[in-house]
Amino acid sequence: MTRTCDIVVAGAGPTGMAAALEAAACGYDTVLAAPSGTHLDDDARTTALMRPGIAMLENYGVWPDCAEPSAPLKVLRIVDATGRLFRAPTVSFRASEADLDAFGYNIPNRALNAALEKAVQDNPRIAVVEAMVSAIALNDDAAFATLSNGETFEARLVIGADGVNSLVRQAASIGARKWAYPQTAIVLAFDHERPHGDISTEYHTEQGPFTQVPLPGNRSSLVWVMRPERVHDTLAMAPRALAMAIEENLHFTLGKVSGVTEPQTWPLSSLVAHRFGARRVMLIGQAAHAFPPIGAQGLNLGFRDVADLAAVLAGAGADPGAPRITRSYDWRRRADVYTRTGAVDLLNRSLLTDFVPIQMGRAAGLGLLKNFGPLRGIMMREGVEPGASVKAAMAALDPRNLRKGQAAG
Ligand SMILES: Cc1cc2nc3c(=O)[nH]c(=O)nc-3n(C[C@H](O)[C@H](O)[C@H](O)COP(=O)(O)OP(=O)(O)OC[C@H]3O[C@@H](n4cnc5c(N)ncnc54)[C@H](O)[C@@H]3O)c2cc1C
Repeated sequence: MTRTCDIVVAGAGPTGMAAALEAAACGYDTVLAAPSGTHLDDDARTTALMRPGIAMLENYGVWPDCAEPSAPLKVLRIVDATGRLFRAPTVSFRASEADLDAFGYNIPNRALNAALEKAVQDNPRIAVVEAMVSAIALNDDAAFATLSNGETFEARLVIGADGVNSLVRQAASIGARKWAYPQTAIVLAFDHERPHGDISTEYHTEQGPFTQVPLPGNRSSLVWVMRPERVHDTLAMAPRALAMAIEENLHFTLGKVSGVTEPQTWPLSSLVAHRFGARRVMLIGQAAHAFPPIGAQGLNLGFRDVADLAAVLAGAGADPGAPRITRSYDWRRRADVYTRTGAVDLLNRSLLTDFVPIQMGRAAGLGLLKNFGPLRGIMMREGVEPGASVKAAMAALDPRNLRKGQAAG
């Protein structure tokens, strides 16, 4: 039997759940296909989520449930730990320099997913079906999503939030460029003797970043990117030896390390879809783009997909999957996704390469950022919210603000 709804969301990762909440807020009856057994409560990662993402969580009413286990990110620091001839200087981005109290918060994924799941379950416009989307048929007027429990839903729009191997992307015949890196991320959390001062430090090594991100108290999470052949030896380390290896990679800045949690591994790859909206389909999150965890970009970009999706749905009317709506979403996402994917790829490759001119270029770029405050300001604003520097420049040039400035002067 075929049932009808307005929108089917495939995938209940953080972007899928956020998209379902936005679709429901726009008044659409939404089905969220959330396969059981893939529930994200065993995800040991944490997410450094910037202010616009936090504002979305506030808007969904889930921030109070996320706030307690999270820590503010007041300083983001990059340390060149490559040991190469051309090393970059240490660069610190301070939220206070950008007139912010914090760039964002580091949230345990378990808390984030649990809070979003509760909001989704409580929303009367969202029907959560514990099943995979197993087939999709698309035509000019409707999309048909068949689930692994045998149910079929006829909808106007399918939102693909079904991760890197997205079935929705394939069903819409949207190609993607994919490439792998010789890198795996090890994720864990640990206690440390000295306070972190709400500072996150990304140590850039020849194998990839080693990133400490603050948690409440004298505790931090760690994303340790390394070559796959080194993973086995690292996982085989006795607890004290692992703690000592972490201390050493932190250059002993946080003192003695203890209470190291069971490490999880995440192989790294990149993907960028050729289009983000077409044929009654919109792609969000890792179904649209994926890249290594450098500079905390992935879910922040995914939440910006959701924000743009919400913006186009707000004016979509009776047919949220009409070509003009999916086209509009596609255009809105292009610049942001392509620039972020390119920048992260370039930064990652500049760490892995033995090509000296690229190493020099990277060192020079970071040197420029360290010494040139206005450039650092632009990077900080753009890192938190793309387009924010243009908005700030427009505001500064606004005649009313210029007059106010003259009067104050
Ligand atoms: C080590 C590491 C650290 C990271 N740290 C950060 C960070 O600090 N900040 C940041 O912004 N980003 C970070 N990221 C990136 C971030 O984790 C991802 O961008 C985010 O998890 C993507 O969420 P998603 O909802 O798009 O996809 P996913 O979390 O991949 O969810 C996809 C869901 O779809 C389901 N699914 C798959 N197929 C189907 C189907 N056919 N039908 C229905 N459901 C299906 C899956 O079971 C899964 O639940 C990190 C990534 C890694 C690997």
